Amino acid sequence: MNHQGHMASYGQPQPGYQEYQPFVYENQHMTGVPPSQYGPYNGPIQGYQQTAVPQGPLRLPPGTAPPPTSIPPSTTAQQPIYNQYRQGEVLNGPALPDQMQRLPVSQPYMPGNTLRSGSQTMPSQHYAPPLSHAQQLPNQMARMQISGVSVNSASPVSQGYDPPASRPQVATSLPPVGPTPYSTPLQNAPSSTPQDNSLLQQPFPGQPTPASTFTSLPTANLPPSLGMQRPPMMHGLPLPGQAPSGTYPSMPNHRSMDPQPGMPGVILSGPTQGFQMQPAPNQGFVPQQNGSFGQMRAPQPNYPAPSVGAPNYSSQPQPQQKRLDPDSIPSPQLNELPTQKKTRHRIDPDAIPSPIQVIEDDKSNRGSEPFTTAVRGQVPPLVTTDFVVKDQGNASPRFMRCATYNIPCTSDMAKQCQVPLTAVIKPLATLPADEAHPFIVDHGETGPIRCNRCKAYMCPYMQFIEGGRRFQCAFCCCVTEVLPHYFQHLDHTGKRMDYYDRPELSLGSYEFLATVDYCKSNKFPNPPAFIFMIDVSYNAMKSGLVHLLCEELKSLLDFLPREGNTEESAIRVGFVTYNKVLHFYNVKSTLAQPQMMVVSDVADMFVPLLDGFLVNVIESRAVINSLLDQIPEMFADTRETETVFGPVIQAGLEALKAAECAGKLFIFHSTLPLAEAPGKLKNRDDKKLVNTDKEKVLFQPQTSFYNNLAKECVAHGCCVDLFLFPNQYVDVATLGLVTYHTGGSIYKYTYFQAQADGERFLNDLHRDVRKVIGFDAVMRVRTSTGIRATDFFGSFYMSNTTDVELAALDCDKTITVEFKHDDKLNEDSGAQIQCALLYTSCSGQRRLRIHNLSLNCCTQLADLYRNCETDTLINFFVKLAYRGVLNNPTKPVRETLINQSAQILACYRKNCASPSSAGQLILPECMKLLPVYLNCVLKSDVLQPGAEVSTDDRAYIRQLVASMDVSETNVFFYPRLLPVHKMEIDTDDFPVAIRCSEERLSKGGIYLLENGLNLFIWVGMNTQHDLIQSIFNVQSFGQIDSGMAALPQLDNPYSKKLRSMVDIIRAQRPRFMKLLIVKQEDKMEVLFKHFLMEDKSANGGASYVDFLCHMHKEIRQLLS
Ligand SMILES: [Zn+2]
Repeated sequence: MNHQGHMASYGQPQPGYQEYQPFVYENQHMTGVPPSQYGPYNGPIQGYQQTAVPQGPLRLPPGTAPPPTSIPPSTTAQQPIYNQYRQGEVLNGPALPDQMQRLPVSQPYMPGNTLRSGSQTMPSQHYAPPLSHAQQLPNQMARMQISGVSVNSASPVSQGYDPPASRPQVATSLPPVGPTPYSTPLQNAPSSTPQDNSLLQQPFPGQPTPASTFTSLPTANLPPSLGMQRPPMMHGLPLPGQAPSGTYPSMPNHRSMDPQPGMPGVILSGPTQGFQMQPAPNQGFVPQQNGSFGQMRAPQPNYPAPSVGAPNYSSQPQPQQKRLDPDSIPSPQLNELPTQKKTRHRIDPDAIPSPIQVIEDDKSNRGSEPFTTAVRGQVPPLVTTDFVVKDQGNASPRFMRCATYNIPCTSDMAKQCQVPLTAVIKPLATLPADEAHPFIVDHGETGPIRCNRCKAYMCPYMQFIEGGRRFQCAFCCCVTEVLPHYFQHLDHTGKRMDYYDRPELSLGSYEFLATVDYCKSNKFPNPPAFIFMIDVSYNAMKSGLVHLLCEELKSLLDFLPREGNTEESAIRVGFVTYNKVLHFYNVKSTLAQPQMMVVSDVADMFVPLLDGFLVNVIESRAVINSLLDQIPEMFADTRETETVFGPVIQAGLEALKAAECAGKLFIFHSTLPLAEAPGKLKNRDDKKLVNTDKEKVLFQPQTSFYNNLAKECVAHGCCVDLFLFPNQYVDVATLGLVTYHTGGSIYKYTYFQAQADGERFLNDLHRDVRKVIGFDAVMRVRTSTGIRATDFFGSFYMSNTTDVELAALDCDKTITVEFKHDDKLNEDSGAQIQCALLYTSCSGQRRLRIHNLSLNCCTQLADLYRNCETDTLINFFVKLAYRGVLNNPTKPVRETLINQSAQILACYRKNCASPSSAGQLILPECMKLLPVYLNCVLKSDVLQPGAEVSTDDRAYIRQLVASMDVSETNVFFYPRLLPVHKMEIDTDDFPVAIRCSEERLSKGGIYLLENGLNLFIWVGMNTQHDLIQSIFNVQSFGQIDSGMAALPQLDNPYSKKLRSMVDIIRAQRPRFMKLLIVKQEDKMEVLFKHFLMEDKSANGGASYVDFLCHMHKEIRQLLS
């Protein structure tokens, strides 16, 4: 049977109906279960778990800390969960003039009259299928009505609501001990941005740019060809894993220095000679003794500080050209080190650029004042700095960040410097409570005012001329007539009189109400729908997933996204369960009992019912709750281990098509889909391919089926969120493909057990269901003449070269865009970018979100290097590289990254830095962290996996990173490591982070490490008993139970403060991080050390120091 046939026949019995098969799993016995399905339960674990983790202790002890039923307030506090458009609901905002408040005449669906739910508007077409006779349900289902047959309809009470006697089985049948839940080993990195320094006040083009120059790692000392492949041979001092004395003071890296005007760079000399401080050509940098930032707040925020060099430079006043002996640097930290260690250092790790220093400097320099966007080409504060944004004509950096805010005028310059022109765009980003949400603008029936030629939307860059009768486009220069209803006089400066009253004239970000011309088929959309599709095969039942999920959904459905302050969500919901066959449920409000319809013909999926499948939660509450009570019971004794997957997505897609709405599928899936059906997969995992030319195959889907399905999903606004609960290989690369292309989210809970992992799963689910989201979206990026968007990275689909198509886009999803020159740019006019996102809101309103950003253009490379942002650059690089592994072996991908970065730094050295000896490594101030962050990317599990990293984990990480914004990639690649024992209990502040290296850890300390996906607390074996008692409620190190899933709730300031820190950190990240306790020298420590990014990694990744040497060598080769 074909889809068309079904589509056409809604409202009447469908032809396929008769084919429904009765359930069969009841007839199956254990013998039918492939042993392989059970193996993994208590068997050997793959991945990290196996080598690094003791199985027992990781489990949450039964009975402790039951999963919360709702998200802790802290995780949601910053998010306008219910009202995406807090201010939007007040059209145009309170301060706007009347004319702007006019509701769109053409919009027939303002809240209230437009929310159509299926059960309300559908003519109650009774799909009374003639098929009851065909259904023979197992005993467990006896209480549920089958497909509309009225057999049981008369007596709801007795029929379906009795508490099941056997319900709790699921929970009790959990294996006592499971493999560790740790599913994704990762790493990450911080970033750097320009520093705010006085030096920059005199940035004359042509003059040597401020740099932080790390000079000289003399060639002689470089490893012959320190490739990324082999363990770098750190000459001399392999940042030892253990501090000799065992008690390093954790080094606060936050140190400040006073750069002096005119100083171009900080220069490090080579390992053998010791460090050299080279004063800038023009004046030189006079380092100060442990100076603190005092005088130098650069008046111009967009001018980065010259050379806040490595942390220790500042600590010693040096005459020009005098060499520093690293061991003589009087930094307090170094003084605390054991002598023998210091003397073995050839390169002092404290003397190379420190991410912590850069982050802390930016916080203190730029965190106190609001970042206003009035000025073109301003570099915003770092993503790690807490700052307030005031939109004064350019989009907030929360919506759009660039790698450089000053772009070369010509493509020749761009090629020469190799700095990618890129913007990281997060169109629906959540803003803090104290920042204004984009206003909604209504231009009436004619729709938003646009340029006649390039179709750019009205924005602050448009120039009104001829007394306001026309405007000239900032993007294509075409002149467009102003429509009479939009006319306004100009003031003496040429500004429209209503400039400040109209968001589209004075702000960088705002929304337009779209007219029917912006809708598919010229029809306003219906409100979207959510469909929950639950795997009820053996593994999903046994892990406790189904029981947990069904219980949670009962309350979670109260939190569906709502528009503004409307009372109820317009989103309708539907439910499907599946294993080898699919079960649809009729939950129409008028039914006494939910009804199940089984579709066993998975080869040609269709939806057996329309009326009653997608319903309003409030109206159908009783029926839905009954269904959610019954599902775990019905399948409690299932022996079915096989699942389908392709047909599940097809079913959801068909349901949305039939209901003529966009929507999202929430699929909860546990196994590789081995059952005979479209999209069936085989286990093709092969770790022998790692590090071979065929490695890319592991990232490619094993069939084109899902690619085609994804395309169809996007065309119909069907987004797919995938929650995976695998006990073995499930082929994430293939299963995740539809999610990837539809703008969905993927979650993976390896070896899921409800008791141990329920908290994490439920928190993720809550956030995922509740978050701000737009459907059926198209994003277009327009640019002014001279550059154009040429490449896009993220989770979406593109069927042409300009439109980014998204079945849905939520507040966490980011799209990275690369620009190239197609003409010369002009310094005076700069370059403008306009991102327009057309989407359907959660209430079904069609809107356009517009973000505008203007950049400077330069004819001097020095200007470019002064206005870069390394974090954004890294975000682009990692997305480029992670996409690259689809078609290339990882080695050339890594080499390409190294090469491009070396060219960027070499170009700076050649054109911007002051003359100096070749032995000096000179880095631009804004990019001094490029080497350390780049190294983190190169060592990541995707590009250079250790033996313990599973193929699925790599595919999973790859997919996650594709949608990450700058702040996420920053912490993901260079984790945040906080010395807990240094926290101040009487302030809300966190302790200053330390660098991610083992030698920074003190045996007497406790540290918290997080990277957005993983959260550890590491406890040193010499930690004071008092502190241990205060935090863990035991008397000694040995008594700490590393298997605890949550910190004990103790009534003392240390416990409170640490738990509060954990809560705050979790709330800052889009995904809930499960807490793992790691004791020093415990088995689990291997896992923890994987995240100490400055150290040499177990899989051969270079240490930071070694990599810096390697980069220096590459740069020298380019220069010679
Ligand atoms: Zn134009």
